[in-house]
Amino acid sequence: MKIIGLTGGIGSGKTTVSKIFETFGAAVYNSDLRAKKIQDENHEAISGLKKLFGENIYSKDGILDRKKVASVVFSDEIMLQKLNALIHPLVFEDFSNFCKINTEKKAVVLESAILIESGFFKRVDFSVLVTADLETRINRTVMRDRVTKEQVLSRMKNQMSDIKKKEFCQYEIINNGSLDEVENQVKIILDKEI
Ligand code: ADP
Repeated sequence: MKIIGLTGGIGSGKTTVSKIFETFGAAVYNSDLRAKKIQDENHEAISGLKKLFGENIYSKDGILDRKKVASVVFSDEIMLQKLNALIHPLVFEDFSNFCKINTEKKAVVLESAILIESGFFKRVDFSVLVTADLETRINRTVMRDRVTKEQVLSRMKNQMSDIKKKEFCQYEIINNGSLDEVENQVKIILDKEI
């Protein structure tokens, strides 16, 4: 089984590309969604987050105050590192279990916006970077998340540049056009690697 890392900036089309990999038979692990689930349900994550951010970071009903966490780590690099040191190993353990239950698949895709920054790229067979023109990415994100252009730009500012990410990725999928064009690029990668 091949393990494929999939990354790209906000609005580039990671999730869209993941779905195409799925149609070709791959199992997709969405790190962002799984990390949220871990923070809501995993005891080690919950107690670690309470130690880092205080007991009140969870409501009485056990709901994590994500906005508060985001606002703290946005301006505090050390807290961000501590948060990552707590959550990333749990996500990777969860991903390893995901691979174990998908051994019959030819490929597993590890989709992560921070594939490079987290070091997860070192644990995959090869990595794919999804790119698109800046205007396209902004427009897509504005439409998808119902946010302003300024909000998208501010989220982009915190992400590693595509130029830097490219250094770590073996393939690039350019997603400026139709879904058919993306599908063709996915097919080329799978034909070569699997
Ligand atoms: P990411 O996961 O990288 O943030 P998404 O895959 O969610 O990006 O794509 C952002 C938005 O753009 C989504 O609403 C998606 O449906 C749309 N989108 C992505 N690629 C295309 C494309 N080639 N054609 C049309 N819409 C697209």
